[in-house]
Amino acid sequence: MSYRTEEVAYVQPAVQPSAASAQAGQQLRSTAEYRALDAAHHIHPFSDMGSLNRAGSRVIVKAQGVYLWDSDGNKIIDGMAGLWCVNVGYGRKELADAAYRQMQELPFYNTFFKTTHPPVIELSALLAELAPEPFNHFFYCNSGSEGNDTVLRIVHQYWATQGKHSKKVVISRKNGYHGSTIAGGTLGGMGYMHEQMPSKVENIVHIDQPYFFGEAQGNLTPEEFALARAQQLEAKILEIGADNVAAFIGEPFQGAGGVIFPASTYWPEIQRICRKYDILLVADEVIGGFGRTGEWFAHQHFGFEPDLITLAKGLTSGYVPMGAVGLHDRVAKAIIENGDFNHGLTYSGHPVAAAVAVANLKLLRDEKIIERVKNDTGPYFQKKLRDTFADHPIIGEISGAGLVAGLQLAQDPKARKRFANGGDVGTICRDFCFNGNLIMRATGDRMLLSPPLVINKLEIDEIVSKAKKAIDATAQQLGIS
Ligand SMILES: *Cc1c(COP(=O)(O)O)cnc(C)c1O
Repeated sequence: MSYRTEEVAYVQPAVQPSAASAQAGQQLRSTAEYRALDAAHHIHPFSDMGSLNRAGSRVIVKAQGVYLWDSDGNKIIDGMAGLWCVNVGYGRKELADAAYRQMQELPFYNTFFKTTHPPVIELSALLAELAPEPFNHFFYCNSGSEGNDTVLRIVHQYWATQGKHSKKVVISRKNGYHGSTIAGGTLGGMGYMHEQMPSKVENIVHIDQPYFFGEAQGNLTPEEFALARAQQLEAKILEIGADNVAAFIGEPFQGAGGVIFPASTYWPEIQRICRKYDILLVADEVIGGFGRTGEWFAHQHFGFEPDLITLAKGLTSGYVPMGAVGLHDRVAKAIIENGDFNHGLTYSGHPVAAAVAVANLKLLRDEKIIERVKNDTGPYFQKKLRDTFADHPIIGEISGAGLVAGLQLAQDPKARKRFANGGDVGTICRDFCFNGNLIMRATGDRMLLSPPLVINKLEIDEIVSKAKKAIDATAQQLGIS
């Protein structure tokens, strides 16, 4: 099977990585040299370094729009927006200019000791305008993981201010992802992470995920199954005692866990249970926030109202690191009116990150990028995937909305039978994509897509046709047709 990059009529002018990088003062090396140095000195996140070093990393040197270039000059279409984050696409000068101006004006100042600065003020006011009505206050950090650490601190402070000191337990979900600090990793429900974390945060427990294809038994409909999974929250609260439960946290749809979209019955039931037992409801919007589903925030897509939202990734489109927590008015009031809140990070509200975030949010708003995802490119992408893979011999389901999708690889799609060696199958498919110059992520036996929100229909066609080739090649390799 060969994977020539398909030439399309609308390609951006060829970018010469060497000239651009030379200008930026970067040292230019051959791919072999880069790989050797990377192997010698760089430990990658979530990687088996031994096998990675033997195979060699792909060196990405340049990006524009929805395309990446590697150090051998290959042009790659980025079906993952970096790592779910480059919502406005690569190469937006507005963001670079905002960073440059802010670095010259005020590269850093802290907000700990009765000081503030214009970028963090502008960002907070803009977020209050863009977020749903009850969200008017924001606390800043540098990542989604720190956002969820901050959530824990706010949740505990909130209940302390209410005099309910026994409310300490946070309920989360298996196969949820909330980052990789100790608190983020404990909140998340990834078994392979927990195994390497003998020290975890106390008072965190997990319930099952609403993963219909993989876990529904018998003849339950997706709606009945999702309802049953939501009701596990009630059972868990009753087991622990509502007086001991502080919060429930979940991603509106699970991202890293496989783009698992719960049926429509799930979130209303979760919200009902949280209200009934006086439990704070936290939406981890690190992937869902800033337009992924076609709404500004994914909880709007699913129709529920959280008390706290965790933000990162799309907040700055990944151009610089930044995370945040949005507080519902009732939570903000308790935090504001009850003395010191003893939490902060040197770079909380970093002026350069805040300036970039403001420029990014203005692009999303003023260029109506999210409206286009909702009304045009999102529906096109979802339909194209569903049409292309209807009755495919190894595609069991397609989940998603807007510009995010999960494709379930399956041994027998109709019987909802998964591959015994799911992870291997995903890796095979991911490698076919990689060789075909498409970035599509594999999580076990699910293939994930989350392209930049500025993608156009021709580029969507290119992603889907490359994905089809890779999945056909996977089926062929497995001897299924
Ligand atoms: C990526 C992610 C995080 C962690 O964000 P980092 O910036 O990697 O720390 C947290 N929650 C969700 C839902 C994520 O997808």
